[in-house]
Amino acid sequence: MKKVLHLFLVCSLLAAMGFMPQSDEAALLKKAGKIHDRVISVDTHTDTALEMIKPGKSHQEIQACPENLKAGRVDCCFYPIFVGQRALTDENRAKSYDYAIARMKGIRDYIAQNPSEMEVAYSVADIERCKKEGKLSFIMGLENGFPIGTDIGKLKDFYDLGTRIITLCHNYHNDICDSSQDSVTAYHGLSAYGKEVVKEMNRLGILVDISHASTETLIDCIQYSKAPVIASHSCVYSLKDIPRNLKDAEIYAIAANGGVIQVTSGRWALSRLPHPQVNISVFCDHVDYIKNLVGPQYVGIGTDFDGGGGMAQLEDASKMKYITVELLRRGWTEKELRMFWGGNILRVMRQVEKVAAEMNASK
Ligand SMILES: [Zn+2]
Repeated sequence: MKKVLHLFLVCSLLAAMGFMPQSDEAALLKKAGKIHDRVISVDTHTDTALEMIKPGKSHQEIQACPENLKAGRVDCCFYPIFVGQRALTDENRAKSYDYAIARMKGIRDYIAQNPSEMEVAYSVADIERCKKEGKLSFIMGLENGFPIGTDIGKLKDFYDLGTRIITLCHNYHNDICDSSQDSVTAYHGLSAYGKEVVKEMNRLGILVDISHASTETLIDCIQYSKAPVIASHSCVYSLKDIPRNLKDAEIYAIAANGGVIQVTSGRWALSRLPHPQVNISVFCDHVDYIKNLVGPQYVGIGTDFDGGGGMAQLEDASKMKYITVELLRRGWTEKELRMFWGGNILRVMRQVEKVAAEMNASK
C-alpha cells in the first residue's frame, strides 16, 4: 500500500511538471494546433478528385475529402486528375483528353457548389487569401501529361480550367518523356516534343512535376525548365530502393535548382516493414533524411491519399496534424515546420509565376 501511495505521489509530481507521456502528447498536440493556425499547409498530391466525383461515393470512404482536410488542418490540397497510360495512338490521346477535361470540370463543379467553404486556387495569392478567409483551396492538375497528346495547344485548355501542375508521366513513357518504371527507354529523358511542352508549361505558369519520371527525364527538366521543378509525391531511394524513389544525386539536383521534394505517405514508397509498423515515424525518417541531406527548405509533403497513400497513424487527412507532433518531437522549429508545410512549395510556385510573367513580358 505504501508503495502504491509512493508511486501515486511520484506520478502526480511528474504530471504537474509536464513529464508524463500523456500530458506531453496533449501539450504537443496543442502546440501543433497553434502552429497550424499560423502556417499554410499544402498537400501536393492526392488522387482524391476522381473519388469525389464518383456517383454514390460516401465521403467517409475518401481519405482526403474536404471534411478530413479541415480536421487535419490542411489548407490547400492538390486535386489532380489521374490518367492511366495507354498505347500512343491518336484514338487513345483523344479519349484521354476528353476523359481528363470532363473530370476536371466535374471536380470544379463540386467545389463551386460550396463557395463559402472552398475555392479552386489559381495562384499563391489565392491560397493565401483562402487561408485568411478560413476556406479550403484546391489546385487543379494532371497526373500524366498523356491527355495533351501531340498537340501543345491543349496545354492551354487545361491551364484555363485551373491546371497549375502536371506530373509529366505515369508508369510508362508517353509523348513527353520516359518514366522511371518503364522497361522501355524511348527518348533518354524528354522527347524533342517534351522539351517544347516544358517550355510552354513555363510560359503558362504550370509546375513541372517529375514524380514517376526517369532520372534522365529529371536531368533534362532541370536543364530545359526556366523555373524550378518539383517531385510532388516521391520518397528516398536510400531508405527504400524502388525505381520510383529519388537517389541522393536526384535530391541534390532538385534542391540545387531551387525545387522541392514532397515526401509521399504510402507504404509502397516508404518501407518494406510489415504494414502495421509503417507509421508516421517511418514517414518522418524520409523527411529528416532530405532535411539532413539538403536542408529544410527543400522538403514537404504530397500524401497520394486515395491513390495508395496513407499508413498506420495516418489513415486519412484528418490525422495530418500528428505529423507536426512527430516533427516537433524530433526538434523541428516552427520556422522549419512553416517551410515543410507550405513555405517551400509556395516559394517554388511564386517562382513559376514569376518566370511565366517574364516570358510573356519579353514576347
Ligand atoms: Zn503517382
